[in-house]
Parts: sequence; C-alpha cells; structure tokens
Amino acid sequence: MNGVIHGRTALLAIALLVSAGGAFADDDGSKNSRSKQKEDGGPTIDSHDMNPVEEAPTKGGTLALSPITPHSGTVMGTPVAYLIWYGNWNQSNGSDTSAGQTLVRDFLFGISNSPYFKINTTYNGPTGFVSTGAETTVPAAARSRLTDNGVFSAVANAINSGKLPKDANGVYFVITSSDIAKSGFCTQYCGWHSVGTIGTTKIKYSFVGNANRCLNNCAAQTVGPNSTAGVDGMLSVLAHELEEATTDPNLDAWFDASGNENADKCAWTFGQNQTVGANGASYNMSLPGKSTASRNYLIQRNLSAADNKCYVNFETKAQ
Ligand SMILES: [Zn+2]
Repeated sequence: MNGVIHGRTALLAIALLVSAGGAFADDDGSKNSRSKQKEDGGPTIDSHDMNPVEEAPTKGGTLALSPITPHSGTVMGTPVAYLIWYGNWNQSNGSDTSAGQTLVRDFLFGISNSPYFKINTTYNGPTGFVSTGAETTVPAAARSRLTDNGVFSAVANAINSGKLPKDANGVYFVITSSDIAKSGFCTQYCGWHSVGTIGTTKIKYSFVGNANRCLNNCAAQTVGPNSTAGVDGMLSVLAHELEEATTDPNLDAWFDASGNENADKCAWTFGQNQTVGANGASYNMSLPGKSTASRNYLIQRNLSAADNKCYVNFETKAQ
C-alpha cells in the first residue's frame, strides 16, 4: 500500500506544481471547489475529485452536513443521458470492451426511478426518472489528445452532424476508453460536468473516463462488482455527474456555501450497508439491468436536500 500512497502523493504534487504555474489557477487540489476553469480558455466545470482513501470503500458519516441551497437557476425534471464513446471500446484489456459498454447501459437503465436516484426528488423538480437517449462513437481515427474544450467539441460534433439530437433536457456524456490521455483526468479529477451553448440551446455535458487508467485514484476498489473494475468505478462517477447535472444543470441552481453540489458533499462515501460479493468486490445496491435481470453496484451516496444527509436509498433511508 505504501507504493500506492506514494503514487497518489506524486500525482497531487504534480498537480500543485501545475497549479502554481497558473494553468489551474483556482484549484487547491483538495476538496471540490466550484466553477473552476481547469485549462486556459476551457469551459467552467464542476469536477469530481479523486478518491482520497486507499482502504475498503468508505462508509461515511450519517449526520447532517452544511446546507445545500437553491439559487436562481432551474433543475432538470427527467434528464436524458446521451453517450459518446470516445476512443477504442473494442480492446482486449477486459475493460474497454463491449461488455463494459453494456454495463454502462444497464446502469443507466437501472438508475431510473431507483431508490437511489429518487434522492434527487428533494430538489424541487427532478422526478427521479432518467431517460436513456441515443449514443454514438468517436473512433480512433478521429481522436487526439483530449482537452476540456475538446470534450465539448466532441458533443457539438455529435449534435451538429446529426448523430445525436440537440436536446435541452439532455446530459451528454463523453466516455473515454482507458487509453485516452485526457488532461486532468487521474491527476486532478475523475470526471466533471458543465454547460455549453449550441445555437440558443444550453447543452449539458459531462466527461467521465474509464477508471481502468488509474484505479487507485478514480475507483473505490480494484475489483468491481461486475468484475470490470474500471467501468464499475466509472459508474459511481457517472452517477455523481448525472445527479449534479440534474440538480445544477447550468451551474446556477443547487450548491452549498462552498460551491459544492449535491454529489460533491457525499463523494467517495458508500454507506453503512455494503456487501462483499463472491469476487471480493463490495457493493451497496442492486438495480434491474437491461441485458440481465439484476446487477450489483458500488455507487457513492448522494445528498438529500430535505435534511442535508447522505443516502444510498431514499425509500429505506439507508445511509
Ligand atoms: Zn461533483
């Protein structure tokens, strides 16, 4: 474990050096801070910081946290999740595979109206449902070193070329395969969401990378409940970004006095009720799948706006 911890420290040290150089002007490398412009000229993003722990998945506390409050902006009732597969998802590494893609689709299917996503109904508007929209791919030939601006370019290209509809209720996820070097990914954050404009339509979008690129930084465990640690880890980040995009789609709705959005306040905590499966991976929820009846997941908790506590399950109130 020492080596792993050392690796983490080294990564953060690099990040802080870059920060001192000005490229990440207002990133302190610690808790999530709001509305950061990660790169010169890049979009304003709200990022999901890296896993601060090394041990078994953290349970997290059960007390009320500092309050999250509404601001001037609107929320999304039922977000439509669009997927943009960026990179090569047909590899033989056991992670960037069609099975990994199926896992993502199953999760989006299962999260809709789940006891987990219903936590977002406390934010005055979200229904707890999630729609799954169309998906497209950005093949190897069309990719380059990905920047924050490049993420929105991938979204805009997909919309402007007609591969995906232009949907104000959409959340467009750019999902990178683990061979994609995305500046900031694995060194500064594990994912983020933001908003851009195409024509007169505000386009909500998110970057989430396959955590197989850096399991120690962007996954809670190195074995996943679905035996695909990278994608299993990625799903918790995807859930985080989806619920933030739902309750703070334009970065002007729900956040606390420090700028933390709902999922930020519960990041990297997985609740008191975790089960260890046959393969040694912990999970904290089972959701219906599309390709299979049910799947187990380890997904971070989310904040209820009703009492500012982190929950796994809105119906049983399991924390
Ligand atoms: Zn966040």
